[in-house]
Amino acid sequence: MNLDGINVLLGVKSPWQVTEVKVQEKNQVIDVFIDFERGTHFPCPSCGNLCRIHDSSYKRVRHLDVIDYRLYLNIKVPRVNCDRCGVKVFHADPWSRQGSHYSRKMEAKIIRFCKEMSMTAISNELGEPDNNLWRVFHHHVKFNILEKFNFKDVTRVCVDETATKRGHSYITIFSDYDTGLVLYVAKGRKMEVFDEFYGWLWDNGGHPGNVELFSMDMSVSYQAGRKAYFAGAQVVFDRFHIKQCLNDAVNKVRTEEVKSEKTLKKTKYIWLKNEQNLTAKQKDMLREFLHESSLDTARAYQLKSSFDMLWSIQTRAVGPYIEKWIEKALGLDLEPINDFVETIRDHFDGIVQSIVTGVTNAVSEGLNSLMQLARARARGYRNIENFMAMVYFLGSD
Ligand SMILES: [Zn+2]
Repeated sequence: MNLDGINVLLGVKSPWQVTEVKVQEKNQVIDVFIDFERGTHFPCPSCGNLCRIHDSSYKRVRHLDVIDYRLYLNIKVPRVNCDRCGVKVFHADPWSRQGSHYSRKMEAKIIRFCKEMSMTAISNELGEPDNNLWRVFHHHVKFNILEKFNFKDVTRVCVDETATKRGHSYITIFSDYDTGLVLYVAKGRKMEVFDEFYGWLWDNGGHPGNVELFSMDMSVSYQAGRKAYFAGAQVVFDRFHIKQCLNDAVNKVRTEEVKSEKTLKKTKYIWLKNEQNLTAKQKDMLREFLHESSLDTARAYQLKSSFDMLWSIQTRAVGPYIEKWIEKALGLDLEPINDFVETIRDHFDGIVQSIVTGVTNAVSEGLNSLMQLARARARGYRNIENFMAMVYFLGSD
């Protein structure tokens, strides 16, 4: 076989050359052997000194397929004998990365696949063990995404928690409010995640002191973490989370009242959804209920509607409006509403800031779809690190 053409195809240049091509028709496998020319000197990997070859062995990596044949490169790996450093392995061949099972071109193809399909699907498509593929993936995330990220300009950060699988372990995601990019993913949702994020910023050229604002939910541990590690940053409670808490309170009122008021059965979503999202029939029902406003649920609902108004009034009116709203809310004397009022009082400044700044984890909505995608892409992932790397990957553009 004429090897010159193969040298050109694979980009093999002196001192390297293709010395042999073996084709196994039965298994549809091609093995290409690449050697270095005799008498070649390679630099010592430690000191750069040009050295004689001590000995060598082959490493085999998978390259891009040729028609239906799997193509493997068998690359001769020299060990050099350095006068200063002793015997060292020279790994820097042009086709593959140290420790990988694949050529660089094959790795690039795997990463392209990751944008479109799950790791399990890629594993089936290529006939490669998913553990090897995950290693390629982690390398890409670390060196091509995380190390290239610019943390210097990060000033406003959203913090969200999410379950990796339904009901399984939680992760906390720090994302840039201004760009929507995922900045850091931490295991769990305790206050320590703020400590980790603090260190991460330092280690990656950012400055924790530059963070001016955190938008987050009202969980106790997040607040403690923010206070301990980012004392100078302002807290803004996420609008959706605040509304969620009030929605929960309204629903509790309904669950209690339904025991004595059968007409409230199967009406949960009428009270929780935005009115414009209700069907015509549901709208009619709601109107009827509100007409008999002697129902606690209807009164709680009206309170909820007037709370929503907060986001559309002038900023200087916000404080007094909340005060007045609290008075009205306590007048109903319903336990779930009283509890919500307590939450409001405990988080007064952060709630006012949410309304005044207009900052909210709106990226969270994007984040929700990102998480869904991450769960799908990482399907069959073996450990949480794989899942977290997938969140970085998908959250990087
Ligand atoms: Zn050396």
